[in-house]
Amino acid sequence: MFKLAKFLKPYWWQIIILLAAIALQTWYTLQLPAMMADIVNNGISKSDSSYIWQTGGKMLLYVIFIIIGAIISSFFSAKIGAGFSRDLRKEIFVKILTFSSSDLDKFSAASLITRTTNDINQVQQANILILSMMLRAPMMCIVAIIQAFNTAPKMTWIIALAVALIIFFAILILSALLPKFKIFQKLLDKITLLTRENLTGFRVIRAFNNEELEKKKFEEANTELTRTIISITKLIGLASPLITFIFNGVCLLSVWVGIHYLSTDMSYLGNMMAFMQYALQVAMSFFILTFLFLSIPRANVSAKRINEVLHNKSKIHWKNKTEGTPSRNLSVEFKNVSFSYGPSSEENVLENITFTAKKGETTAIIGPTGSGKSTILSLLMRFYDPTEGEVLVNNLNIKNYSKKDLMSKIGYIPQRGFLFSGTVESNINFGNHETDDKNTELAAKISQSKEFIDKLEDGYKSRIARNGDNVSGGQKQRLSIARAIAKQPEILAFDDSFSALDMKTDKKLRSELKQYAKDIVTIIVAQRINTIKDSENIIVLDQGRIVGQGNHHELLKKCKIYREIVKSQYSEKEYQKELKNAKA
Ligand code: ADP
Ligand code: MG
Repeated sequence: MFKLAKFLKPYWWQIIILLAAIALQTWYTLQLPAMMADIVNNGISKSDSSYIWQTGGKMLLYVIFIIIGAIISSFFSAKIGAGFSRDLRKEIFVKILTFSSSDLDKFSAASLITRTTNDINQVQQANILILSMMLRAPMMCIVAIIQAFNTAPKMTWIIALAVALIIFFAILILSALLPKFKIFQKLLDKITLLTRENLTGFRVIRAFNNEELEKKKFEEANTELTRTIISITKLIGLASPLITFIFNGVCLLSVWVGIHYLSTDMSYLGNMMAFMQYALQVAMSFFILTFLFLSIPRANVSAKRINEVLHNKSKIHWKNKTEGTPSRNLSVEFKNVSFSYGPSSEENVLENITFTAKKGETTAIIGPTGSGKSTILSLLMRFYDPTEGEVLVNNLNIKNYSKKDLMSKIGYIPQRGFLFSGTVESNINFGNHETDDKNTELAAKISQSKEFIDKLEDGYKSRIARNGDNVSGGQKQRLSIARAIAKQPEILAFDDSFSALDMKTDKKLRSELKQYAKDIVTIIVAQRINTIKDSENIIVLDQGRIVGQGNHHELLKKCKIYREIVKSQYSEKEYQKELKNAKA
């Protein structure tokens, strides 16, 4: 919580005004009971109407001050609170942008969303409460005790008794409540996760008729959350009857004790009434303090979760400036690379991967799903760092590059095409803002996007909906490819990016790409033999190991797994023909 206090710094002068307004408000509020006692003792009992009017007028003036103080303080507490959370949200957003994939794996998207919304809300509320109460409550308490002592010194033990009772109950309730808040926060994360899965995966859920299971999963989490909320509310609900009990007890005791003094001294009536009010103020301030203690640990849970994000030490440290000079001779090289996804999955997903992808050549990676193909490209993009070995781009370890330098070299097309809301043009030029129309159109042409863009009513200016929902899967892939080409990279890395294309488009795209990519490094991850069979170097991957490397013909001769893949995709006749060609 205190770590987040720095976000209040820009609002220091507003905080000062807020505190001043609160002090003013509290001070005048506490003057009123004494003045009332004055009216009773000196005005009413002596039938002095001019005194009553005079003091009454003064009281009215004080009330106006109090109202002004209240308006100013609520205005500024709202302003400070909203500004604080705006700054904090921005900071978190910017921080998340710097996250590597392993950081995202660590937090999960759902949890990051709760942290940026609900947790910030909690902290904001606590902040407003602290700002408006941390001065009010102690001031109210101290001044009221002094005033009570001044008006009826013999009765102050009543206040002591009330405070002792409040503290006792407060400790009881707080100790039961705090552990519940932690559980509440965890359950909320779970609900968010399930809701998210339900929304992003709704097609799968429908198609597999799994609504019942999803409903059950959600219901379980939801019931548990409800139960926690109910027990929290029950505990907090206890506070209200306790407050009533203590307040009424204070009044009753004051009158009971006061009556004894009244029988000897009638002028004690005003004092007794004033004392009662001060005693209530003191009790009230203790309740406020309890409430503060209640919301601070709760906000603290949230603050901790926010701080975890803000102070997350990324596993990947980028250099600010590239150290060393990359070779002019473009290449990608993996040297004895092993990799595991970390804590929860110890096993190596990649084992001793060594290969070189050269300029002007196409290096293809093929293998069954789960063999680690995408992981190889993730390592090249430095989404993760290898556990062992090194990855070199243009003969320089990628750890020596600045993020900007490395990313500007690689055009990466992820397995699942992703588009941003905007236009066709803004999507193609996403990685290259200083581009011209010629470059955009070239990228569209090579990626085979041109034919469908030309058919669109607004051409390059056509709207792309959120997630690219208004284009087909194949079109999405082609635009993703165009986006990578438009960046004019030195390395093109395709992660299964041809899977949604029909054979004809696939072929056309590759032949145009071949022309275009004469001077750059091309790496293609694919499942279809046809997509990669013309590649200069094919790497066959199985369970994270390279089991064969060479061109199509070489692999047919020497790699059993490669032959199996070819056999599974070709008819027997075609397969035999391929084998014969290979041997020839
Ligand atoms: P491919 O692209 O060949 O289908 P991947 O590289 O995606 O294979 O995955 C290789 C292995 O790594 C799989 O067993 C998969 O379960 C695991 N894996 C992939 N991504 C992650 C991740 N973020 N965290 C943990 N394990 C992962
Ligand atoms: Mg993959």
